[in-house]
Amino acid sequence: MFETGKIYNRLSDIHGIYKGQQYGGIATPAEYPFIFIFTGDAGGDYGYRDGYDNEGVFNYTGEGQIGDMKMTKGNLAIRDHQKNRKEIYLFEKFLSGYRFVGLCNYIDNRIEKLKDRNGELRNAIVFRLDIINAQNIDKAQTSTSKVVEAPKAVYITKPNKSKSLQQLREIALSSTPIHASAQEKIQSIQNRSTAIKLYAKKRANGICEGCNETAPFETKSGPYLEVHHLTRLADGGADLPQNVIALCPTCHRKAHYSLDYLEFNNQLINKVATIEAALS
Ligand SMILES: [Zn+2]
Repeated sequence: MFETGKIYNRLSDIHGIYKGQQYGGIATPAEYPFIFIFTGDAGGDYGYRDGYDNEGVFNYTGEGQIGDMKMTKGNLAIRDHQKNRKEIYLFEKFLSGYRFVGLCNYIDNRIEKLKDRNGELRNAIVFRLDIINAQNIDKAQTSTSKVVEAPKAVYITKPNKSKSLQQLREIALSSTPIHASAQEKIQSIQNRSTAIKLYAKKRANGICEGCNETAPFETKSGPYLEVHHLTRLADGGADLPQNVIALCPTCHRKAHYSLDYLEFNNQLINKVATIEAALS
């Protein structure tokens, strides 16, 4: 019902159809088994720091602008979404709208000291969420449908560059097991995140996918290229082959800092789409 990467108007496209709270980060429509969560620039003002952590897991700060956050309402809805058979839809602020990032599964949460709206330190709930790749949604990976576990080997195997392009793609696209421990889930996400970076570099084969020049120098682990995510989400993006591109440092800086970075990113998106189409 929402298309990954597409930009929606929060009021008309989301609340106009499904209802739910129009303000704040978490909306829980009463008549649908959905939870909508929103992340973006505005949160930064209140000390929210949504984004990927070092393990490649998406961190989402709960709701509550003043004082300690409580495990009630929207926060409770996120924590218990699997039990309550509700799907979490993640949207990221983009230009004048919200871009649909994907469905999420709850892994765990922790308490962090973060500033509230008044600048006072308080206990904030930070959720760790697994963003589900669109390709996996069909494979019954979501909480409301029948569970199909990924083969164990996929998520305990650490990817390395000796794997083929196809093997790395499979690891990058593998589903996180729902009934594994939080640690196993984190491991699975970490492997996926490593695999997608190795995948982009392997696909580039030593040539910058932006300007088609040879990588500027060699390293112990091969030609030096940097992996850029084409969708923002705190510059982590979802781990999909069409979302990553291996760039030389100049092209990578250009994608972030040039005056025409949006246009340049769009060129890169088209370029990767062409490369990926030729591969399949
Ligand atoms: Zn380049």
